Amino acid sequence: MSADNILEGLPSFEPGWVWLAGAGPGEVGLLTLLALRGLSQADVIVYDALVDQSILSLARPGAVLEFAGKRGGKPSAKQADISLRLIRHSRDGKRVLRLKGGDPFVFGRGGEEALSLVEAGVPFRVVPGISSGIGGLAYAGIPITHRDCNSAVTFVTGHDAAGEVPNAVDWHAISKGSPVVVIYMALKHIALISERLLSAGRRPDEPVAVVSRATVQGQRVLETDLLNVAAQVAEQDIEPPAIVVVGEVVRLRAALDWLGAIEGRQLLADPLGRSCHRQTGSE
Ligand code: SAH
Repeated sequence: MSADNILEGLPSFEPGWVWLAGAGPGEVGLLTLLALRGLSQADVIVYDALVDQSILSLARPGAVLEFAGKRGGKPSAKQADISLRLIRHSRDGKRVLRLKGGDPFVFGRGGEEALSLVEAGVPFRVVPGISSGIGGLAYAGIPITHRDCNSAVTFVTGHDAAGEVPNAVDWHAISKGSPVVVIYMALKHIALISERLLSAGRRPDEPVAVVSRATVQGQRVLETDLLNVAAQVAEQDIEPPAIVVVGEVVRLRAALDWLGAIEGRQLLADPLGRSCHRQTGSE
């Protein structure tokens, strides 16, 4: 089957439907075929701040693009407005693409929007996307799991609805139980977050990476450790959006920074040495 046939065989976008889609972390090549299909057929595209312009440029000519930007956990009144807007467009018989950064169901309020569509009786489809906490880190050469390092990973948000470090997060439990911690929306409160992880028992020299503008022009990766991350973020002027990862897997970047290798970085063959787990006491 040719690529054209595959696209043809995808579900078609019916008037009155909402497609709640993820646009991936930014790089246009990381869109799913269904998201591309949505872009090529939608009448209205309601998009978030994190959706890259290069992706919006794939919209069908004549499609209406509506910005629904929300930054840094603003109050939920605006969220209700967005849901109402989706419902209104659907009732007007439009094909409505609700496009969000990454995956719509990962810290993106996609669940809340979908619930209001259900309540209003609006038919919808969910199109998952590549989440920045997975794909964005892969673009930094960091696998979130490696058999020798970890068999669990935790995704956590550094912001609650009010823009504060969420009180509901049990940093002690995460520290103890999760060798790798991937933190979304972490930049603003990085000092507090790293402090909490340290006081919950994580090692000060534990590797940390901060990946800013992952997968798009201007991607930057800061490699540091838990003790120094907050100071380094400030010193090096790391800007949002950025994803933070804490754990030994960060050391794999020395071998797996494939994007750096394209630009001439020499990759290290054996970044873990004898073991993934650095010994803290005597062996
Ligand atoms: N649904 C999105 C997450 C939305 S929350 C997803 O699945 O990726 C917004 C947070 O996502 C940002 O604060 C940042 O931590 C992260 N993020 C999204 N896109 C990013 C990118 N291109 N580079 C780095 N971080 C990104």
